[in-house]
Amino acid sequence: DYILNKDYFIAVIEDLIEMAEEKKEYFIQLDSAIGDGDHGMNLSIGFREVSKNLEEWKSEDINTIFKNAGTALLDKVGGAAGPLYGGFFMKFGLPVKGKDEVTFDEFIEMMESGVAIIEKRGKAVVGDATMVDTLRPAVDAMKKAYHDDGCSPKEAMKIAMEVGAQGSDSTVPLVAKKGRAMRLGERAIGHRDPGSASSAAMLEIFYKHMP
Ligand code: ADP
Ligand code: MG
Ligand code: MG
Repeated sequence: DYILNKDYFIAVIEDLIEMAEEKKEYFIQLDSAIGDGDHGMNLSIGFREVSKNLEEWKSEDINTIFKNAGTALLDKVGGAAGPLYGGFFMKFGLPVKGKDEVTFDEFIEMMESGVAIIEKRGKAVVGDATMVDTLRPAVDAMKKAYHDDGCSPKEAMKIAMEVGAQGSDSTVPLVAKKGRAMRLGERAIGHRDPGSASSAAMLEIFYKHMP
């Protein structure tokens, strides 16, 4: 049976920490065009805090590791992305409480649990030009690929990553309906939503490390 173990999730977190540094300037650029320019800094601050403590958390179960990471993001990151990504990671492991490895069905539940709290907290739907434009279609596509279309777990995650990237692309011509970019009205047209870009980068990492 297909199993994702704790090593997979730790590799993902370690890569998220690296990605937040590598893409910091890019996220700052995107957010400077239609927001307050801090999205790259927010993620960097949050994931540096995760990085400081990850070694200590490694002996915990998957849910506790992500709960700790989510709490760190929530505590350290202000603005919109802190509570949204903080919430994502705090809820991500909840469906597999106490476990050290999960099936792909459980992984899908974890993704659903994380994305659902972002939708609940932010009250954004697809088309509002937020991270939800990346994450919701990605999770739905992953479910369909795995449950209906006979894709393997890694193929299903690849489809999620691709659909998520398209979802981020889809924010470019949109007027934002949530977050700071909302205030720009039509002036937001032609700009990628920063949170949709960071979410797409996260999906790439979940794909990349999958066995
Ligand atoms: P802030 O806008 O407070 O400065 P960030 O710049 O870190 O916070 O994050 C901005 C991103 O957060 C946006 O690009 C968008 O994707 C996401 N976002 C903002 N508001 C919402 C919301 N209500 N629902 C979902 N995502 C949101
Ligand atoms: Mg910002
Ligand atoms: Mg801000």
